[in-house]
Amino acid sequence: MFNALIVSKDDEGKTSAAVEQIGIDDLPEGEVTVSVEYSTVNYKDGLCIGPGGGLVRNYPHVPGIDFAGTVEASDDDRYKPGDKVVLTGWRVGEAHWGGYAQKARVKADWLVPLPDGLDTRQAMAVGTAGFTAMLAVMALEDHGIRKGPVLVTGAAGGVGSVATAILANLGHEVAGVTGRPETEEYLKSLGASRIVPREEINETTKRPLEGETWGGCVDAVGGAMLARVLGQMEYGASVAAVGLAGGAALPATVIPFLLRGVNLLGIDSVMQPYDNRLRAWQRIAKDLPMDKLESMVQPATLGDLPKLGADILKGQVKGRVVVDVK
Ligand code: NDP
Repeated sequence: MFNALIVSKDDEGKTSAAVEQIGIDDLPEGEVTVSVEYSTVNYKDGLCIGPGGGLVRNYPHVPGIDFAGTVEASDDDRYKPGDKVVLTGWRVGEAHWGGYAQKARVKADWLVPLPDGLDTRQAMAVGTAGFTAMLAVMALEDHGIRKGPVLVTGAAGGVGSVATAILANLGHEVAGVTGRPETEEYLKSLGASRIVPREEINETTKRPLEGETWGGCVDAVGGAMLARVLGQMEYGASVAAVGLAGGAALPATVIPFLLRGVNLLGIDSVMQPYDNRLRAWQRIAKDLPMDKLESMVQPATLGDLPKLGADILKGQVKGRVVVDVK
């Protein structure tokens, strides 16, 4: 028997989460059984621990959209017991049982070998949020980062913190948008040289174009902020759209695309092809300073998850939570 965070739904449709003991036979089918060492808390985890957000198909459910650990048993030639692995995406923790348990059973195709230079704890300090931040930076690079500062929205959150640290380490000037002024020192310690208060950039404007300010943008917020940022991009610059912490609507005009050649790049981490996953994890090991990563970490255990899930939905989690599942 081992520990798992089980989310149940009652007859009235209300969900509740608690740590319970389950057995190996309770796990879903899959080729590889992993002894989970660490998981983390992403925005989607908040939904899956709590109301479900249309993501969870069946209850009882084990959330946790990412995990890192050691292979315990494998029916697939690519993995053998003792291998260190990491998993993000593929709707694990939503449609399939996830990482908030001491063991997980998954498809071999969903796993990535732990990259050299990272241990399982560091891999989950990065987690889906950091992996996605890396994908966003890679997409900006592929399209060319321009002269001006790179803007990171939702900067004190998980995606934003990792994007800030990577971009600064790569030598870019980084401006971080935050609604939490108390995180200024933290963001500067990650490498942001400028803090933009959320209210300065959160409102819609009638002007489709403003001054050409940003040489690139990693956007975790969406909504009115993304619409506004599009009109502030330098000629030919790109915005990597990662998240919707501020809303899914996009109240924008096409003018920045037509008159300034601005690019809006969609970033999806869930169905990302294997080769690009490897490339992103290798870049993380190389381009994300581990001392900066450590400064983002807030440790937690399975029992802390119901509260942390609610906190992240309110935008109150700073940096990255690392859940010690062992
Ligand atoms: P976090 O909650 O850690 O970070 C989001 C940040 O956005 C908050 O910390 C806050 O930053 C800011 N924010 C929150 N609410 C608002 C608001 N109403 N208006 C403006 N800013 C707001 O989440 P993650 O970093 O883990 O994820 C960020 C987003 O990216 C989420 O929407 C998530 O679903 C998405 N995502 C997408 C992925 C993909 O594959 N495309 C993968 C991973 C995440 P601050 O306090 O600094 O203002």
